[in-house]
Amino acid sequence: MNKVVRGSFELMKQLNVSAVLKVIRDNGSLSRADVAKITGLTPASVTNITKMLIEDEYLVECKVGQSSGGRPPIMLELNPNARYVIGISIGVGMIDVVITNLSAEIILKKSIEINEERYDYDFVFKELVKLINEVIECSKIEKEKILGAGVALHGIVNSRTGMSIYSPYYGWKEINIKEALENELNLGVYVDNDVRAMALGESWFGITKDISNFVTLNISNGIGAGIIINNKPYYGVDFSAGEIGHIVVEGDGDKCNCGNYGCLETVASNNNITKKAIKLIKQGTNSVLKELKADINQLTIEDISEAAKLEDELAISIIKEAARYIGIAITNLINILNPTSIVVVGEIFENTFYAIETLNEIVKNRGMKLSSENVRIIKSMLGRDAAVVGATTLVIQEIFNGMSIN
Ligand SMILES: [Zn+2]
Repeated sequence: MNKVVRGSFELMKQLNVSAVLKVIRDNGSLSRADVAKITGLTPASVTNITKMLIEDEYLVECKVGQSSGGRPPIMLELNPNARYVIGISIGVGMIDVVITNLSAEIILKKSIEINEERYDYDFVFKELVKLINEVIECSKIEKEKILGAGVALHGIVNSRTGMSIYSPYYGWKEINIKEALENELNLGVYVDNDVRAMALGESWFGITKDISNFVTLNISNGIGAGIIINNKPYYGVDFSAGEIGHIVVEGDGDKCNCGNYGCLETVASNNNITKKAIKLIKQGTNSVLKELKADINQLTIEDISEAAKLEDELAISIIKEAARYIGIAITNLINILNPTSIVVVGEIFENTFYAIETLNEIVKNRGMKLSSENVRIIKSMLGRDAAVVGATTLVIQEIFNGMSIN
């Protein structure tokens, strides 16, 4: 305990301190006696640790609890605004930065678009640091109250070293984003693949926070899955688990950017859905999309999702077609993993239920009876903030799960 600075992130991550914070967080509020009972720590240790946590504002004394005879106990609650965390999402063409409290509630969010000509690492990194500093400054939160930063990065990421092994859209290879950001920000930085971070965020703060085994499926310009098994992300031996976008769904399909043919991404990624709509409209298919955009080449996935809401037949049919392919891929996943839920994220799920209905239909018709009958396919509650909330969770989990320091 003497080796580290009081109230510092290193101190908070110590196992006993973490254990106290975790049981109070999990239970909403607890008396000191209950904390001792649940954690197995001695009452004296609990008194010392909670005293320190109250002085550092992590805990507050609140309402008086139920008495079982004698003096009613004072209850302790977590103060989510004791400290703050930076969450960063580096996605395809877009960087988002947020600052949140310890409950992952977003205080401030800023985003920038990174267009195709400017994917080189030095440029993107400079823009990223500028954006993070802007968010910190505008939030008016003191730097000392910021515990660390989490990064949800697209592509293959080694979460142990914080290395971007391969980022297909930016063309980055073997770049240590953790080290670079730690040097720049003077904060602890945690990095993971974006969809895995989303799944982690869902399991702490989203619709599946009470569910131990589920899969988050993200449909964007790439398609990926974050797998949670017994409350923990599954990484695979090379940090490459969950690449569902590269499951082959069409034997003689188009070439994918991974080099293979007929991958799910070639028929169901946002880019490919949009391309298909543009092609059909140019061939003369009638659609409200023609009125939505003066230049049909500028059509976006948001436009198509919006048109489906207006009951546009073309939009509905291409969303359903993409969902049928996605349904085949997740049926395989459900047969293998037998999860409780599949949480879906992406614009095609946002305005209507056509995509989710189609997924349900395919899974029920094609999946093994038991696992496909019981699985629930649900929309993410975090939606477009799923990646940044996931990124902050990479830091927040360190405080509550603890790590022994040596
Ligand atoms: Zn592929």
